[in-house]
Amino acid sequence: TLQGKTAVVTGSNSGIGLGVARELARAGADVVLNSFTDSAEDHALAAEMSTEFGVTVRYIQADMSKADDCRQLIEKAGRCDILINNAGIQHVEPIDSFPVEKWDAIIAINMSSAFHTTAAALPMMRAAGWGRVINIASAHGLTASPFKSAYVAAKHGVVGLTKVTALETAREPITCNAICPGYVATPLVEAQIPDTMEKYGKSREEVVEMLMERQPSKEFATVEQLGGTCVFLCSDAATQMTGTTLSVDGGWTAL
Ligand code: NAD
Repeated sequence: TLQGKTAVVTGSNSGIGLGVARELARAGADVVLNSFTDSAEDHALAAEMSTEFGVTVRYIQADMSKADDCRQLIEKAGRCDILINNAGIQHVEPIDSFPVEKWDAIIAINMSSAFHTTAAALPMMRAAGWGRVINIASAHGLTASPFKSAYVAAKHGVVGLTKVTALETAREPITCNAICPGYVATPLVEAQIPDTMEKYGKSREEVVEMLMERQPSKEFATVEQLGGTCVFLCSDAATQMTGTTLSVDGGWTAL
């Protein structure tokens, strides 16, 4: 059980972040949810999760594209035993026309935010005598696709940061690992399916087949499975796992 631990999950008002936050809460952890918005829905989500799992759940607004916000998220949380660096965005375009603002935003949100939150969280983990840093990278942290330059660069960067964090904490009761999902059924991915069906005049199955070209299982991973992987990394069984990548990709990186 993760009772008494506080987990901070960046980018957790939807998708994988929310799924991971829910599984950590189910395992007994108090949770800090985060995104760049500060809406009534965001705070209601925290209240509902708190009731459902009987743990403390807070929502803290912070923009992961800004260094100060990243560090303040951890300061405001006040305690951070489990840090899940999950916030991420995507933009797909060839390098020679890739917008510079998109490059900067993706590098900041998908990579640099993990550096800033980790820097702020490690002293708290050391003070508490236990810590888990889990970076949600991607199959694109290990392999590449055309037109995803910033995303692939940022995710490879996160895998590198994971290794350095692991080495700097190797003699301490702190571990740092990266999870590398293939395609995951999130609202973001789901929402693209009807559009693509219409655009290409294809059935749902055909569209999923298109998406799944890289994923041999031909099935999406679920946010619950990613949450379960995080809970495992927080368990005693994973104490000697550090600086590594765990692929949850239906065989993508085996191809
Ligand atoms: P999503 O869009 O559902 O969730 C992204 C989350 O990040 C949202 O909560 C969003 O509010 C938040 N976010 C975006 N910009 C932010 C900012 N500036 N500050 C704070 N929060 C911000 O997407 P998802 O699919 O759940 O992706 C989550 C992570 O998983 C990302 O890092 C993504 O790269 C990674 N990932 C996703 C897939 C997939 O197939 N869905 C595959 C591999 C890796």
